[in-house]
Amino acid sequence: MEKLCSKCNEQKSIDKFHNLSTGKLGKHSHCKKCRSEYQKSLLYEKPINGKLKCSKCHIIKTIDCYYKDRSSSTGVQSYCIMCLKEKIYESQSKLNGYIKKQIKILEIGKILAIEDIINIYELQNRKCYLTDELLTYYFGPKLTDNNYETKYNISIIKKDKDKDFSKSNIVLVGNCIKKMVGNLNLEDFKNICKLIVKKTNNS
Ligand SMILES: [Zn+2]
Ligand SMILES: [Zn+2]
Repeated sequence: MEKLCSKCNEQKSIDKFHNLSTGKLGKHSHCKKCRSEYQKSLLYEKPINGKLKCSKCHIIKTIDCYYKDRSSSTGVQSYCIMCLKEKIYESQSKLNGYIKKQIKILEIGKILAIEDIINIYELQNRKCYLTDELLTYYFGPKLTDNNYETKYNISIIKKDKDKDFSKSNIVLVGNCIKKMVGNLNLEDFKNICKLIVKKTNNS
């Protein structure tokens, strides 16, 4: 008697399947070979014979397909090089898209290019100019009641509000900080913050 393996789609003799009382013909739907390959695929969470399973694409690849990572218990990163490159590309294109949108909203496309903003972003070590909080560029669905995920989204503000937008007259701050600064000059805003800190520390 034969049975079709629903994994490899091969017609195989019934003894090539493990017993399973609840299965069709009392057998597993996957053949022994497929089941053993599946069991093996669960392994390789740690390197075996120089091979490791990528935790993104789940393909078992040789160790040289991974970047080294001293801080990891396996000695390499958990994503293979191909997946890692895809991930970096994906987030880079999201960053570009986010900045493009900001430039459009402020109508400063003739003065500033996406690369100008990314340069400033890197110069600020990807942190908010005023608070040192890490900047984000999240624009997916709402995740929290207080919109925490967009609080530090990159926002472009002028250093001197009386001057035009230019490479030297802008800084990047979190969205929530931009709202606080409002129409104030950056220096005025900082002075007000100092007053608040002073009073808070004294009371
Ligand atoms: Zn099979
Ligand atoms: Zn991978």
